[in-house]
Amino acid sequence: MNAPTPEISAEFFPVQTPQAADELARVRQELAVLHPAFYSVTYGAGGSTQEHSFATIERIQQEGSVAACPHLTCVGATRDKIRAILERFRALGIRRIVTLRGDLPSGVIDPGEFRYANELIEFIRRETGDEFHLTVAAYPEWHPQARSPQADIDAFCNKVRAGANAAITQFFYNPDAYFHFLDSIHKQGIDLPVLPGIMPILSFSKLSRFADACGAELPRWMRRKFESFGDDSAAVRAFALDVVTALCEKLLAGGAPGLHFYSMNHAQSTLEICRRLGLNPSADK
Ligand code: FAD
Repeated sequence: MNAPTPEISAEFFPVQTPQAADELARVRQELAVLHPAFYSVTYGAGGSTQEHSFATIERIQQEGSVAACPHLTCVGATRDKIRAILERFRALGIRRIVTLRGDLPSGVIDPGEFRYANELIEFIRRETGDEFHLTVAAYPEWHPQARSPQADIDAFCNKVRAGANAAITQFFYNPDAYFHFLDSIHKQGIDLPVLPGIMPILSFSKLSRFADACGAELPRWMRRKFESFGDDSAAVRAFALDVVTALCEKLLAGGAPGLHFYSMNHAQSTLEICRRLGLNPSADK
């Protein structure tokens, strides 16, 4: 029997100007050759970019070729606000949501009416039943605020018991962490599709800053090698593609149900990685 074709999906962050929105639409068009299962759009807990997230979601839905999947954070929100957003999603024909706690912007101290993502999921299930497919965040290298790895696994399992259908991981470069995470949740009797979040490496210095902020580890052997390339951007790009493709190969060989690309609003690295994996039907293998 042939292995099922892995599900590809991609994440975008909202852009602020009409020109940038057109550029992002071109990126989506390029990625469409991968037949993505969905395009997700991030959502800032702070508020200032939320309307841009809605605009991006609306445009993806209007394009009609790939399902739009909004992220929704609950920190700082009231039940009424979440209820109104769900109504807005319903009006747009949204079927799938990435449900998150989010992080309060610095200086804001009111956590609102939801403390953790499991409370958001419980609320959505209570209000809308099975209308939406709910995806939650998973952390193979543990969430930076978790009291312990076991506490983080327990919190994840609570989100699933509250009604999550699937998960997407924080990005990571150590496949063992992903498989260990799966073993840990299986031991708790939890089984659901956990899509590994894949971060193509576009700039190593930016990636380092980002990884520090979200608690993802950049292995020393990778870090040292990237540093050794200095300003040689061709060498950086070639190594980045090799490293991320090898990671994806290991994940898929180990049974990952698909790959969720943190596109950073670019298409080329994702397309090239998928080409190398034999998952880009429009490209030479
Ligand atoms: P939770 O699952 O609530 O967990 C948060 C922390 O609380 C964890 O340490 C957990 O162990 C702990 N915890 C949970 N329940 C309990 C409890 N009952 N008692 C004690 N501790 C508990 N951020 C955005 O702002 N916008 C986005 O669009 C966005 N998209 C993301 C997409 C993905 C795939 C991922 C992996 C992350 C994304 N984030 C986004 C970042 C995310 O919002 C942060 O990592 C946030 O800090 C945690 O959100 P969560 O939903 O994982 O929270």
